[in-house]
Amino acid sequence: MRIVMKSVASILVVFCMSAIVVAQGAAPQAPPPPAARKLVSVRLTPKVYWVKGMGFGAFIVGEKGVIVFDACRSPEAARQMQALIAKVTSKPITTMILTHSDSDHVNGLPAFPAGIRIISLEQNRKDIVDSATEGHLAPEYMAIPKAYLPNHIVAGRTEMKIEGEKMVLLSWAPAHSLGDLVIYLPEERIMLAGDLVVLDQQDLPLIHIDHGGSSKGWVTSVQGMLTYDASLYIVGHEGAVVRDDIEKQLDAAIAERAKVKELYEKGVPLAEIQVAVQDPNPNKKPASGPANGPKFPPFSEVLYTELKRGTF
Ligand SMILES: [Zn+2]
Repeated sequence: MRIVMKSVASILVVFCMSAIVVAQGAAPQAPPPPAARKLVSVRLTPKVYWVKGMGFGAFIVGEKGVIVFDACRSPEAARQMQALIAKVTSKPITTMILTHSDSDHVNGLPAFPAGIRIISLEQNRKDIVDSATEGHLAPEYMAIPKAYLPNHIVAGRTEMKIEGEKMVLLSWAPAHSLGDLVIYLPEERIMLAGDLVVLDQQDLPLIHIDHGGSSKGWVTSVQGMLTYDASLYIVGHEGAVVRDDIEKQLDAAIAERAKVKELYEKGVPLAEIQVAVQDPNPNKKPASGPANGPKFPPFSEVLYTELKRGTF
């Protein structure tokens, strides 16, 4: 996380020139358990706020209403997020944009105002519905009432102007999960990347190998994202990073894909491959993912499994 924190520090020097930190319970002592964590909003530009303290969160105060990015891990967290929004504007929330359908990004949907526009990829809408189907509801998921399901589907590349804010909604391929929507704000040069990129201590992608994710799709998606000229990337699980950080993870992922493939084809077993590529790296913390959400195998195991399944 050192790189991430360093980047955040340098970014905040740039962005905090005019930034107002709307903090609740500022100086952190021992980190409280995830359920009790306070959310904090950081003003990045006059209109764009980053919400820290959960998987991924941001909002834009637009002309007549507020656009929210991701719906929090629980209704309680969603109410906290709305309290932060109410501190900076009296405008109503009119739009929700979901980066993907992991539980810690959608469980708070029913606590947002009814009747708002909820934008997502089709596969993420379907995933939320399927998660609530009897027998499929994983413990970390909540059943989302029909009135709070996505009602505006996008795909590929979609340019939109919402509440006066220009944005480009982008998706390339299944990557971190079965659907990853990334939002570029061209006037702000900010990329809202969801969990497509998560920079934890292992510095490698987190892929839902058994929930539609793909290492090949991840490389395609991150390369696609880097064709845009963003100066700041808000990424999953509390990262605000610059292009170099993303490129470093992309290079590491591409190198590990090549090495694991080479060793797999020589018949080397996974345990030996993991020692050879140092993944998981015994000197770093294991890949974390959402604190109270799904767990992730090391990237080397994802690659080995894809090779075995013929999905590499
Ligand atoms: Zn996720």
